[in-house]
Amino acid sequence: MSFATRLARPEVLALEPFDIAAKANAAFGGDAIKLDANENPYPPLLDGALATRVNRYPEPQPARLVQAMSALYGVEPDNLVVTRGADDAIEILIRAFVRPGTDAVAICTPSFSAYEHFVKLQGGRVIEVPLDSDYDFHADAFVAALKDEADLKLAFICSPNNPTGNEIAPKELVRVAEALPDTIVVVDEAYLDFASTPSLAAEACGRDNLVVLKTLSKAYGLAGARIGCAIGTPDVIAMAARALPPYPLPTLSIEAAMLALSPSRRAIHAERIARIKADRDRLAGLLERSPIVRNIRNGGGNFLFFEVDEPAALATKLRALGIRIRFRPNAAPGGLRLTIGTDAENEAALAALGVPLGERASRRAEVTRDTGETQIAVAVDLDRSAPRRIDTGVPFYDHMLDQIAAHAGFSLILSCEGDTEIDAHHTVEDCALALGQALKDALGERRGIGRFGFALPMDEAEAQVLIDLSGRPLARFEGAFEASHIGDYPTEMTPHVFRSLADALGAAIHVKVEGENDHHKVEACFKAFGRALRQAVRIEGAGASQDVPSTKGVL
Ligand SMILES: *Cc1c(COP(=O)(O)O)cnc(C)c1O
Repeated sequence: MSFATRLARPEVLALEPFDIAAKANAAFGGDAIKLDANENPYPPLLDGALATRVNRYPEPQPARLVQAMSALYGVEPDNLVVTRGADDAIEILIRAFVRPGTDAVAICTPSFSAYEHFVKLQGGRVIEVPLDSDYDFHADAFVAALKDEADLKLAFICSPNNPTGNEIAPKELVRVAEALPDTIVVVDEAYLDFASTPSLAAEACGRDNLVVLKTLSKAYGLAGARIGCAIGTPDVIAMAARALPPYPLPTLSIEAAMLALSPSRRAIHAERIARIKADRDRLAGLLERSPIVRNIRNGGGNFLFFEVDEPAALATKLRALGIRIRFRPNAAPGGLRLTIGTDAENEAALAALGVPLGERASRRAEVTRDTGETQIAVAVDLDRSAPRRIDTGVPFYDHMLDQIAAHAGFSLILSCEGDTEIDAHHTVEDCALALGQALKDALGERRGIGRFGFALPMDEAEAQVLIDLSGRPLARFEGAFEASHIGDYPTEMTPHVFRSLADALGAAIHVKVEGENDHHKVEACFKAFGRALRQAVRIEGAGASQDVPSTKGVL
């Protein structure tokens, strides 16, 4: 008898897996005439991408999403079941293993409230084991508190813990699993992407009584899509999956998750996570200056936990200001959990907590651009010079775009999955459009900027670039190339790149180039453009000079 069979509820054991759709999908390919599921043959009245096959039932466990998530978390596909958020993974584990009226579930408190909710819904017994006064977790104390419990089926431990942020060392959690062999220890890693502790996902694949929960809600910004998973041995995962409804995952959510996990998005997700962690650390430091905040806990999540003396007064103030921060009086008297937001949101929260800032708004933008030919994600930050990570699939063009960012002095992350197997045209043009749009968004109202730029670098090749960030698109290009290509890059695309940038950015761009060597000539154009852009986007004068540089008052 397998481990999961021994622990499962008799009702769940008696259930046939609901796999009619999975069997039929496996038997027929994707092109079959589908007259078997009472679906509507007409696509829904939704826009383009949204309409994707929503008239058909989704695959219960879409192979490509299982593949993408197992790759993301470094496990094999049969170690993972995709669920509607980690919430759903919590529920199916409880439904599959906890017998109403008999079985118990241990929860470390204070923690995420959903564990208790689902245990009670199932009619199970909740056993609370408090963290210590500093919210630290001790494996020995946890095990000692539970050693004599009969029918203890599950133990939920959250690391980093919500709401207190504590990270628990993996070896402590493994010790709990070793000491409680007839209990499935469920480690909730909903926030692990923001932490420094390693994941237990790989460990859970080799240990029957260890399961890890993951979600795309927090780190990948997909809370509304409801996509998470449980990771464990195939035995335990298959048993838990029996408690799922027939078609748990909405097609639109599957598509959203596939797009979020696509290679074009990877670099920006990594950068966002890094930024949230850096902002969390910065805010923790700034909050030290608050007259009302104490005991700040800067843990491993995308949030901070701290206490205030007069929570009721603060609640009234926050309500008046329209700022939502989670009060967690059960975790600590006057306890609050503050999620890290955008710069503007963080500033508003800090101001409400008595930390004045008055920094200039950030000049950052993220743009995605998806067509049948290219999938592109771009992030620019005009006030930081790093990171620069460019991957268009056309190495010479990567180098050229890097020249722009390096010489203009801004951070640029740009990834493209394009139809370069045909040729580089779509990729080159669409990346220029997306970059232009990102620069436009980052410039916002264009307050305080230099607006004009001029550059003339000389090697044996000479390029002259003039820029006016006027808001009005205009592009002129003088020059010609002998070679048709440099690597995979078509030289004839060079004028198109500057036209696309001008159109999307809203700028007049004049480029003139002369010289002998085409490689040098193209490179000189991009370098000179970067140099000119550096002047044009620069904030000029003192902090107070935030006017729009036009007598009209708008650009
Ligand atoms: C947010 C959260 C979840 C639930 O995430 P979903 O995937 O959105 O359901 C699970 N566990 C903890 C600790 C959380 O904070």
